[in-house]
Formats: sequence, structure tokens, C-alpha cells
Amino acid sequence: MTNSELQARVVEVRSRIDAAASKAGRSSADVELIVVTKNHPFQLPLDLLELGECNFGENRDQEAAPKAQQVKENNTFRLEPVWHFVGQLQSNKVKSVLQYASYLHSLDRESLLKELEKQLTKDESSSLKVFIELNLTGDPNRGGIEPKDLLSFAEKVLGNKQMELLGVMGVAGLDVSPESEFERIAEASSNLLSIAPEAKFISAGMSGDYETAIEFGATHLRIGTAISGPRQYP
Ligand SMILES: *Cc1c(COP(=O)(O)O)cnc(C)c1O
Repeated sequence: MTNSELQARVVEVRSRIDAAASKAGRSSADVELIVVTKNHPFQLPLDLLELGECNFGENRDQEAAPKAQQVKENNTFRLEPVWHFVGQLQSNKVKSVLQYASYLHSLDRESLLKELEKQLTKDESSSLKVFIELNLTGDPNRGGIEPKDLLSFAEKVLGNKQMELLGVMGVAGLDVSPESEFERIAEASSNLLSIAPEAKFISAGMSGDYETAIEFGATHLRIGTAISGPRQYP
């Protein structure tokens, strides 16, 4: 894809975000676009920086760590990248991810919380913004915190001063209507507000459903293919 094609896609997605926000009676300034750059070489985030986009999502440390380093070394633009880790995070990768990511969208289990606390404690100046990932499947064996356990899990996150709890994250399933999933995410979010009024953000919405997500209050969209085109490697 050429840079002008990339620019056209960014403009298109941004204008659809604006339209969806205004239809929902919201300001698009309250909606963050995170471009998911996974499975693309470091040139994609560099090209996006040139276009004024600086929020990037990645889901594998093995890929993201060297990419973040390459972007840093080759960035001649005024914007600094902000890295969002959006995939399942293995405990043995936490230390590495903390080196470059400022956001974790997928805090999904107690053992990960423990490891994050352990690694953050080693450096008083380090911090991480987190979303708690919800398990919307009803299957306890799947990843994520079940909505019924959200408040007790959130209490533990709130107890850590190096973590800032931003809110909840959800991925709408493929075999269900996105509306009903986004509604459950919104419900969990308002539940969370009862104990954490600042944790008002919602990470939801991908290439296929972001306009619907905006209707249901999403504040952080994670959009890959609608901007990047098909992913280049598996
Ligand atoms: C890959 C990915 C996305 C982006 O998906 P698209 O359908 O390409 O927009 C969003 N969220 C997560 C957690 C992902 O892994």
C-alpha cells in the first residue's frame, strides 16, 4: 500500500468515527484511535507517525519489542509513538512489555496482575495504564475476568499505586450480535464506576464493529485491517 492509500484509509476511518460519535451525541475528541500494527513491519507505524497517528496496538511481545525499538531508532517525526499491548500477555513477557508499552488492554487474570506488580515494584518511576479484559463468553475456561468478578478484581488493581485503572476492555465474539456484547461491556463499565469513578474508559471496537462500539460508549478503538489492509504475516 502506498502512503497516499494509507492516508486515505486513515481519513476514511477518522471521518466515520466523527460521524458515529456525532450520531451518538458524543464528541469524537473523547474517542481514541489505536491503530493495531501487528503483523506489519515497523515501516507502518513510521508512516502513521508521519500522518499524525501515534497510538499503536500490538499483541505479541516477540514482534512488538523489536518493532518499538526500530521505530524509536528511525523516528524523524515530531510525534512520539505510544504503544498499547492488546493481546494475551504471558507472565514471562511482562518485564519486556513494560519497557515500551504505556497501556495494557488485556489484564485478564490474577497471576498476570501479580507479575505486573512484581516487575513494577522494581522501578518506582515505572507505571502502566490498564484495562481489565472481560470474559463475555460465559465459559470460565476462556480468558478474561467474568463480569460477576469484576469489582473484586478491580479492588486489587486499585490497590497498586503504579497502575492506573482506566476501565474495561472487551472483544465482541464472532457468533453473537455485537450490540448485545457492547451492551454488556457498557453495563460492566457502569458497575465499575460505582467503586472507581475515574475508571470510566471502554476499550472496544475493531475494524468490523467500531461504529457500533462508539454508539455503546467505547472510548478506545483498536483498529487494524480497516487502516493497514490485510496483515502481512501470520
Ligand atoms: C488484531 C486485534 C485487533 C484489530 O483487529 P482488526 O479486525 O484488524 O481491526 C483489535 N483488538 C485485538 C485484541 C486484536 O488482537
